[in-house]
Amino acid sequence: MIVFGSKATELITEIIPSKCANCGTEHNMQMTVFQKYGHIFWIPFIPMGKTAVTQCSHCKQVLEKKEFTRDLRFSYDAIRSKTKIPIWTYSGLGLFAAFIVLGAISSNQRDERNTNFISEPQVGDVYEIKIEYKQYTLYKVGNISGDTVFVLAHQFETNKKSGLRELKRKGDAGFFEDLLPIHKAELKEMLDNGEIMEVERY
Ligand SMILES: [Zn+2]
Repeated sequence: MIVFGSKATELITEIIPSKCANCGTEHNMQMTVFQKYGHIFWIPFIPMGKTAVTQCSHCKQVLEKKEFTRDLRFSYDAIRSKTKIPIWTYSGLGLFAAFIVLGAISSNQRDERNTNFISEPQVGDVYEIKIEYKQYTLYKVGNISGDTVFVLAHQFETNKKSGLRELKRKGDAGFFEDLLPIHKAELKEMLDNGEIMEVERY
């Protein structure tokens, strides 16, 4: 469950020239401008606009932004224009962006590594194979001769990617003994179209 909500943080408080509409006192009104922001799991995520309240220090009457007279709205615009959006209200968004970038980098590195492993195969490499939708198995490189790679197919299939771990645990005994020839170019194709999902080298 994602917990989200909004909060406000105080940006500035100033005395304003308006006369209090309630008690008629002059030079006693102060206005506080707030920055609203959305948070997710209590991490400030994104700024959401500003708001303000006034208080008369004489009669203590508090007015919210929606109750502002034209005069107060004018003061609000002037004070608000002096404030900036605090950068920390973007924290969650920044974190999110950082995760995306890191994810893209690590996925790039994995792609690159897989490509290298496929173009320079070694005996013992294990390929995670997607046979079709929700059907996965393993191939293991048993021999290499020129541009032909001979693989051993695993005796078991699984309907979940995570099930491949189980297959790996069975060790060498889990693989058939027949060597299936696959041309290197074909392996590359299988990697490109996602049939080979991952290459592991121990
Ligand atoms: Zn007042």
